[in-house]
This record gives sequence, structure tokens and C-alpha cells, in this order.
Amino acid sequence: MYSVLNEHQYKSNSKPIPVVIIGNGPSGICLSYLLSGYIPYVSRDSVHPHPILQRKLQELPEVSILDQDLRYLSEGLEGRSHSPVALLFDTLLRPDTDFGGTADSVLSWWHEANRTIPHLVLGKNPPGGAWHSIEGSMITLSQGEWMGLPDFQLKDWMRKKRRGLRNNRATAEDIAQYYQNYVAKKGLQRNFICGTVVTSVQKVSQDVISNNSQQDPQKNGGSPWDFPETNKKNNQVASGSLFQVDGFIKTIMGDQMPFSIYAENVVLATGTYDSPSWLGVNGEDLPYVHHKLSTLEEAVKNKTVDMTSDPILIVGAGLTAADAVLFAHHCSIPVIHVFRRRVSDPGLIFNQLPKMMYPEYHKVHQMMTEQSAACSGPYECYISLPEHHVMSFTEDKKCIFQDKKGHQKVYNISMAFVLVGSNPNLSFLPNNGINLAMDNMQPVSPKRNPIDVDPFTYECIQEKGLYAVGPLAGDNFVRFVQGGALAVASSLLQKANRKPP
Ligand SMILES: Cc1cc2nc3c(=O)[nH]c(=O)nc-3n(C[C@H](O)[C@H](O)[C@H](O)COP(=O)(O)OP(=O)(O)OC[C@H]3O[C@@H](n4cnc5c(N)ncnc54)[C@H](O)[C@@H]3O)c2cc1C
Repeated sequence: MYSVLNEHQYKSNSKPIPVVIIGNGPSGICLSYLLSGYIPYVSRDSVHPHPILQRKLQELPEVSILDQDLRYLSEGLEGRSHSPVALLFDTLLRPDTDFGGTADSVLSWWHEANRTIPHLVLGKNPPGGAWHSIEGSMITLSQGEWMGLPDFQLKDWMRKKRRGLRNNRATAEDIAQYYQNYVAKKGLQRNFICGTVVTSVQKVSQDVISNNSQQDPQKNGGSPWDFPETNKKNNQVASGSLFQVDGFIKTIMGDQMPFSIYAENVVLATGTYDSPSWLGVNGEDLPYVHHKLSTLEEAVKNKTVDMTSDPILIVGAGLTAADAVLFAHHCSIPVIHVFRRRVSDPGLIFNQLPKMMYPEYHKVHQMMTEQSAACSGPYECYISLPEHHVMSFTEDKKCIFQDKKGHQKVYNISMAFVLVGSNPNLSFLPNNGINLAMDNMQPVSPKRNPIDVDPFTYECIQEKGLYAVGPLAGDNFVRFVQGGALAVASSLLQKANRKPP
């Protein structure tokens, strides 16, 4: 694989690569499919159930969706995403899914080799991104068909593998394998370089490259993305700029081989699950305090904890914390579960999920409600502490909590798992990418402060040639990250059309 990267490394006569995608999860995979010349058209005999959209689709039946006006097509669509293009692509792929229907996609896909845009997809894990880090036995929140990528439905892969959906939902392990298989089936592997970690992306001028004298743009003040003043004078037009992408690739022997490549466009598809959030309390860095669910599974496997140990502490009231409670309960490991909200808080995810569809999470909610430290309930080995927060962890494995009245309690614990969400890690960008965010004084956050992108191209408002997709751009579900990929591919194809041959 290093040889593929090596091909693109700087050489005096080498051309920059048109597109580098950083991140190989569902966003990066879907974009790679589109850039590999797979072009969506509306099938001749299809009828979309949305009458206005159907009328618009009939206006230019010979023109691919990628070449149509995405703003016009998506106008007036409504659904569970704020992104018009995400709603458009989703409804073309799954026309009546929000009404419980299973109508086939209205798209048919044609491979047009002459429309391929050369690109590389760099990622730490095998293709599938975060799905290789999520505990394999976890069942998806979304229905199975919402986890699928274009033109190869998850249910067809499951049938071939003789696997079944549970309550219409799949396991994370199935999803990770399906994404890996998708890349192989669609012949995309040659674009994917797995085991790569990008450590820096910066803008450089073409002159810097031809002089082969790279300079650090940040040393010159101004926007962290600007290139040095001297080069700026010679490059009044920004089109003379490129991105320098640096990083390393992990070899089978465990070595780290550095690489440096130049790209005309860079797509940020790095998701948001690499840096678990911390509470910021004393003792959180002690060795028995962890921030990943996978460490609990390892601890159980290695018998570091068992049913006779002091309780483990689980902090958080999201789905990952709930998965940890279920896992510990299943293994009869005693649990203290602490969270800041009331159990009846409407903002709590459990109060938003239909009980029938998510019986396991309903059970955790029941445990949280019925078995607080104040009243004993039917669940053995479990105590919930609603409306409490952690004050500190001590060297001798004690955790100090405080309730809403300010009363403190101390519990002995064997291990602690702080599962309170995660943040994107954009340390490879100038200023951690803060300048790209909607509020460019605050760190990027998928829910509160995503990267500011044009809604119809997903190009960063602050930086031309740089794109962001997936949770980084505020699209948090797999069914909706695909719209971002469609917008980016459409924009890049337009750029390619404008270029002289
Ligand atoms: C526990 C859990 C359950 C979820 N359940 C659902 C669900 O049921 N339904 C649903 O639709 N969504 C669900 N999601 C959300 C879903 O995982 C994301 O929406 C989706 O994976 C985003 O895809 P992505 O390709 O944008 O990013 P990711 O899948 O996060 O992939 C990005 C990849 O980029 C890599 N990367 C990051 N930085 C670098 C770097 N510097 N260099 C190289 N590679 C890098 C990361 O390691 C990662 O592998 C869940 C998420 C979690 C954590």
C-alpha cells in the first residue's frame, strides 16, 4: 500500500492528486464510489411517491442527478435532516422509508469511466471507519436499510451471508463487514490506503512546490490557512494553491513510514469518534479510569473484573453508557451508574426512542428509574445515581459524587468508564479547524458547532478546495451522510468540467 502513496509523493515532475479524502467511513466510501465514475440516473419506469419531486425528475430524464441543480431538486423536501441534499439523496435511494414503506430506489447506476476523478481515501482503520471501533455485538439504532450505501443494499449482503436482522436492525460487526465488502465489490480498493494517519493539512502555493521549498504558513501570521506573504504576491489568485497532506502509514512490521502528498482538493470525512470526551475532574487520568466501552469488554475477557469485584462505575446517560450497562448486567458485574439528568428529562435519548423498537434501551431506562440508590428495586447488582456528578477519583479507587443538593457520597469502585460522548480530533488542521466552524471562536462539534459548509456543495465557506462531510458537517446518521458525498461529487465534477483538457 505504501507504494500507492509513494506514487503520489512529491516528485519534481509529478502532478498533484485531484482529491484526497481523509477518513474511510461511510462518508468516504460513498464519495469514493461517486468519484469512481458511478453516476446516478433516474430509472426510466420509476415513479417517485413525492409528486413535486417526480415532476422535477421528469424534466431532465437524460441528465444524471450529479449534473442537475441540487438546490432546485431538493427544494421543499422535508424530513429528519436539516440538509436539503441529504434529504434529496435519501429519498431517491429510499423513497417512502419514513412512511414505513420499502419501495425500491428510483435511481439506476451507470459506470462512466471517463468521469472518474482520481482520488485517494486515507484512513486509520479498514474501510468502514467508526464501525470498526464500535463494539461488534452492539445493535444499530437505525433500521438495517438505513445503514446501506448506494446500489448494494445491506439486506442483499445479509441474505448472501445468511445473516438475519434483529428487530430489523443489524449488529455493528455486520455493518463494519458490509462496508468493507462494499469497497471490494465495487472495485474501490485501489483508492483506499488503510493504516494511514494524517498529521497535517496545510495550504501551499504551486510556487512553493515547484521550488520544492516548503514553508510553514502559520509562521507568517494572518489566517492559519494563508500561505506566506512572499508567495501571496506571486499568487494573487487562490487557484494557484494546493493542499499539502502529511502523515504516516503503519507498516505490517509496526513501523511508521512518513508520507507527504499534494492535493487540489481535500475532503474532511474524519467523523467524530476518535477523541472521547473527558469530565475534567481530578484523578480522571488514573489507570483504572477509562473512556472507551471496548476497555470494559477487554476487562471482562481478561477477568480484571467479575461478579465478585467492587462495582464498576459507568458515567453517562447516552446509548454507549446504556450499552455498557447492558453488557455489565449480562455478565453479572455490579454497576454504579451515575448521570447528571433526571430520568424523566425529555432530552434524555431513552425518552425519545419508541419502546417497542428498542426494548433493550427501554430496559436500561427502567433500571435507571426503578433502582436508584434511594430505593431498592428488582435489579440485582445495579444502582443508579440520577442528578449526580463525579467530583473526583482517588488513588485508592474511590469515587466522590455530589448530588443536586450539594451532598457528597463516596463509593469504592473497581474500574470507571466515562462514556459521555466524543469530540472530533482535527489536530491535523491549522488551529484545530476552529476557523472553519460556524462559530469560529469555538471548537468544532457535530451537534453544536459543525464546520460551516455550502449546503449544496459541502465546500467549506472559509476555505475553497476544502470540503467537509458526515458528522463534521452536522450530518449524524449514515443515511444522511451520503447526501454530503453527493454534493461534493457534484461540485468536483463541475470543477473538472470547467478545467481545460
Ligand atoms: C456507538 C455508536 C452508534 C451509532 N449508531 C448509529 C446508528 O444506529 N445509525 C446511524 O446512522 N449512525 C450511527 N452512528 C453514527 C455513525 O457512526 C456515523 O454517522 C458515521 O459512521 C459517520 O461516518 P463518517 O464516514 O463520516 O465517519 P466515521 O465513520 O467516524 O469514519 C471516519 C474515520 O476517519 C478516521 N480518521 C479520523 N482522523 C483521521 C486522521 N487524522 N487520519 C486518518 N484517518 C482518520 C477515523 O479513525 C474513522 O475511522 C453511531 C455512532 C456510534 C459511535
